[in-house]
Amino acid sequence: MVVMTVEGPSIDPTRPSIARVYDYLLGGKDNYAVDREVGDVFLRDLPGSVAIAFANRAALTRAIAEIVTTTDVQQFIDPGSGLPTADNVHQVAQRHAPESRIVYVDNDPQVLVHGCALLEQNDRTRVVRADVRDPEGVRTHPDTAELIDFDRPVAVVLSAVLHHVNDEEDPAGIVRHWRDHVPSGSHFFVSHFRSGDNAETVAAERTLQHTFGRGRWRTDEEIASLLDGLEILAPGIVPAPLWRPDKAADPWSACGAERELSAWERLIVAGLARKA
Ligand code: SAM
Repeated sequence: MVVMTVEGPSIDPTRPSIARVYDYLLGGKDNYAVDREVGDVFLRDLPGSVAIAFANRAALTRAIAEIVTTTDVQQFIDPGSGLPTADNVHQVAQRHAPESRIVYVDNDPQVLVHGCALLEQNDRTRVVRADVRDPEGVRTHPDTAELIDFDRPVAVVLSAVLHHVNDEEDPAGIVRHWRDHVPSGSHFFVSHFRSGDNAETVAAERTLQHTFGRGRWRTDEEIASLLDGLEILAPGIVPAPLWRPDKAADPWSACGAERELSAWERLIVAGLARKA
């Protein structure tokens, strides 16, 4: 078995990784048998649960498009960005505003490999290997400094990553750090697993905690409190399919506002906030 080394800890194909399991659930090919085993627990034992991943991606895509089309923000920092998939943040942003600049951040070595390959032709996008729990390290990283002008509003994208941060690692402190270091008019997109309220969703949470040895799903109040000091924009923090659904452009959420959502689709919430 080949273990690839990329600036720091290597890609380990013998242990599941959050980024690769998520890639598998989204239909990607950048994963190993160990990742597919975990993904199959969801696909086989928790039918319908893959909707969480698609609902999250769709809300993220809509949020990026909203930010570039309705605000002056054209720079993005995306900690916990994940492996490249369809409609990545830089592609959505640059489709609407070609000058947009994006710094992807992830601690999974595979993200760096695939991200760099994808971005070879894109001089307004960087992939940084760093830890979301070290926002100062991300902010002062040379690639971030090269691309992001902190005198201008920034969008901080925390999509499906803060639920991988334990309470004692102070997820609210991570958001607060960014809030205190970006100018007025900056935006924060957050999506987050909410504490399950039925047996299947509790089983899903346990599976992830057991597999990765970490993570904390939170109540709506706890998720809202991560954004303390920011103005949460309409429609608030809501199940991802209900976050500004775009029926025409987004088949994943096409029915979001009209039909009753499944327990899985209610399991991940999304929200956009603004620094006054
Ligand atoms: N943000 C993407 C999205 O919403 O589609 C990907 C979400 S994926 C579920 C979570 C990502 O966060 C994975 O790529 C994982 O490697 C990354 N991640 C988890 N903990 C992290 C940490 N402490 N520092 C940096 N990245 C982290």
